Amino acid sequence: MFKKILIANRGEIACRVILTAQRLGVKCVAVYSEADAGARHVALADEAYCIGPAAAKDSYLRGDKILKVAKDSRAEGVHPGYGFLSENADFAEACEKAGVVFIGPPPAAIRAMGSKSAAKFIMGKAGVPLVPGYHGEAQGVALLKREADKIGYPVLIKASAGGGGKGMRIVDKAADFAAALASCQRESKASFGDERVLLEKYLTRPRHIEIQVFADTRGEALYLFERDCSVQRRHQKVLEEAPAPGMSRTRRGSMGEAAVAAARAIGYVGAGTVEFIAEPGKGKSAGTFYFMEMNTRLQVEHPVTEMITGLDLVEWQLRVACGEPLPRTQDQLAINGHAVEARIYAEDPAKNFLPSTGRITHLATPAESRHVRIDTGVRAGDAITPFYDPMIAKLIVWDSDRPAALSRMRAALEQFQVVGVTTNTEFLARLIACDAFAAADLDTGLIERNRAQLLPEPPLAGDEVLALAALAELLAIERRAKERAAASGDPCSPWGACDGWRLNQDNHHILVFRQGEHEQAVTAHYRGEHFELELPGGRHSLSGAWQQDGSLTAWLEDAVLRANVVRTGSSLDIFFRGTRYRLELRDPSLHEIETDAHGGNLAAPMPGKVIAVLTKRGAKVDKGTPLIILEAMKMEHTIVAPGKGTVTEIHFKVGEQVGEGEELLGFELDA
Ligand code: ADP
Repeated sequence: MFKKILIANRGEIACRVILTAQRLGVKCVAVYSEADAGARHVALADEAYCIGPAAAKDSYLRGDKILKVAKDSRAEGVHPGYGFLSENADFAEACEKAGVVFIGPPPAAIRAMGSKSAAKFIMGKAGVPLVPGYHGEAQGVALLKREADKIGYPVLIKASAGGGGKGMRIVDKAADFAAALASCQRESKASFGDERVLLEKYLTRPRHIEIQVFADTRGEALYLFERDCSVQRRHQKVLEEAPAPGMSRTRRGSMGEAAVAAARAIGYVGAGTVEFIAEPGKGKSAGTFYFMEMNTRLQVEHPVTEMITGLDLVEWQLRVACGEPLPRTQDQLAINGHAVEARIYAEDPAKNFLPSTGRITHLATPAESRHVRIDTGVRAGDAITPFYDPMIAKLIVWDSDRPAALSRMRAALEQFQVVGVTTNTEFLARLIACDAFAAADLDTGLIERNRAQLLPEPPLAGDEVLALAALAELLAIERRAKERAAASGDPCSPWGACDGWRLNQDNHHILVFRQGEHEQAVTAHYRGEHFELELPGGRHSLSGAWQQDGSLTAWLEDAVLRANVVRTGSSLDIFFRGTRYRLELRDPSLHEIETDAHGGNLAAPMPGKVIAVLTKRGAKVDKGTPLIILEAMKMEHTIVAPGKGTVTEIHFKVGEQVGEGEELLGFELDA
């Protein structure tokens, strides 16, 4: 076994590789970009080296720098993970030349599969079934058009050098072909520097089924069954599962053997995946499957295979790269139970899955067990930046059968709570629950077809949610008042009162919560041990408290409500009964400052940066005069004068960071 390896990657896959390597006693060298200095993979590694600025082309794609670190740190092997340099034959070759083992297939095998067209040519010769289509060298427009007509519409145009769904165009009729071709070529040229295309018959309701293969340096090769990755958005996987629902023994055998034949045809070594597109059978026919492409690396979704086989594929990769034989033979492998993986992304499904960037201010995850696995490179406090893939984590569940696994996934998704960036967790929960998925009626169009059910309007907060929001806010007001009373040394000070006492006001609070365009007001009256709330649905008594585990318990009349409530500045994220509600307290700065107004100091209502100081020491101002603007959570918050008075001190300058509760200004209210 290796003594030390370098992991040429970041994020969850770097962490995942490190954990297996360390379990095997292998020391790990991490590389990182300037943006990742505080990342989890750096913390987990035994050694870590910065290799350049945030942009991947200046860091994670700099094979030369990475190899230098490998040599300087005496790493014997380089694990490329997926993405970045993992399918770069030149890098694999450079490793070989430098005497460092590339933990992946030989460069020639990567090259053979690098072009979709060339791969098809090789696979066709090896007897692997291909989607009817054209993958020739000649690329004249007229010829391509003739080939498309011959295939019959709809036709799919793909970039030969493609990946990540880039360049793919569906053409429904002959008249649209020329324009679609030109657009595919443009995108392909821009993305891959290569405008060659191939044509395929476009299958209308196909499934994406892929086979995990493994080969060693001694000429042995086997398959570790299949994964069904049909649930996709924009041709990219969202949910993956193993085994594929409805897969017969015979079909599994024939697809597995075709995949092994594919691996053998190119002298493959290590972990690889052969992707097939499968058409369901009609009537008595068993349906067909066609080779799509081979990925010459570990796949994102490999954990579902690990869960059903009980094997560690990274361990296999390391053993095979050291020249050891495959740890098992084909007939020693068996499928146990069912596993599903959901990719949790920082993205907004409602905005066509647009990536969402920002800092993760709160992260709660389900407990890991035999049934639940979380692969992640992200911790609370980390930022999702525009530089890299916005994946937060992979959530993988296992159980004895598919329905039980889906129940596990539903429960686990409910417990996966992220604040600070928009995520797809609720979308995933709806996907798991939707009829088509539950019934395993799978094909790549599932998400599009069920759009209305999967992407409903966000639910409006009802009385229960408003009560929880109000309680969180009222408890915060109470806490601040108590802190103030303690700090003032006068427990009888009216400023320390937490019963809603306020100059010229009776003892109640009006809290206005905004959700998009909607505003709902809740009036809270103090009644000694409890509150009386005026909610849209009527008057109710409310009491409650924060629990040890950070959750909030509320008694609304006789009902006990339990939720996770995260307050970030003026935002409240409420996770209640599997749904997340995002409420804004209207005009938070005014509200917070009012409750804090006691003529001693004005504190920052949340951590942030001072972006404007609008007043001077000694200035006499009226109530409501804007004094300082803070920027926090990408929003501006104006700190205003709590009453007529004088600014006695300014503690911060523009550009400075302030912590929550830090005093911004000294202020004296006029008598
Ligand atoms: P990329 O490498 O760009 O991701 P693939 O060739 O792997 O592209 O295809 C990605 C996805 O596009 C597949 O999983 C499948 O959903 C869809 N797809 C590919 N080929 C076809 C086809 N001939 N007919 C219908 N859908 C297809």
